[in-house]
Amino acid sequence: MAAANFRRMRDDDERWMAEALAEAHAAAAAGEVPVGAVIVHDGMVVARAQNRMRRDRDGTSHAELLALRAAAPVVGDAQLGACTLYVTLEPCAMCAGAIVLARVGRLVFGAWDDKAGMVGSVGDIVRHPRLNHRPEVRAGLAADAAAALLRDFFAARRAAEAPAAAVAADTPAGTPAASRGSHAAG
Ligand SMILES: [Zn+2]
Repeated sequence: MAAANFRRMRDDDERWMAEALAEAHAAAAAGEVPVGAVIVHDGMVVARAQNRMRRDRDGTSHAELLALRAAAPVVGDAQLGACTLYVTLEPCAMCAGAIVLARVGRLVFGAWDDKAGMVGSVGDIVRHPRLNHRPEVRAGLAADAAAALLRDFFAARRAAEAPAAAVAADTPAGTPAASRGSHAAG
């Protein structure tokens, strides 16, 4: 039954990812690393969130984590198994762990994160064979749009932080990892 529901939801993935991208755009406008997330249950958005690390002065204020915390009181934590979490960037270790703990039924993400992604890039927490919950995963949806948003954000920030000597040694300008960015870079 759940599989059939998720098949139907898959048809709406582009639409919901567009909502997550709108959150990411809003984050960029607020000076945050542009990552956005929405959680959908039964064809409705039950939570939407964007990165707030800078505004909260909290390195754990990632879009997915904030969305999960907002969704649980709305649908009840037992219902998160029937939810799909859409996020514009591959989740980090913290968020991937939270997705497993919350028993989210399905995860759809946009851009890959070579530097911190834990849904296939650096490691894979959500499909770890030793963990007892493994969400269905769809990767790379609207990845180009999500990655472009991050690339533009970091390019603008580097330009603002010129001279070039100030650029951190681990984020050389022009490398794919640096241009893609990550939560952690914020
Ligand atoms: Zn995260």
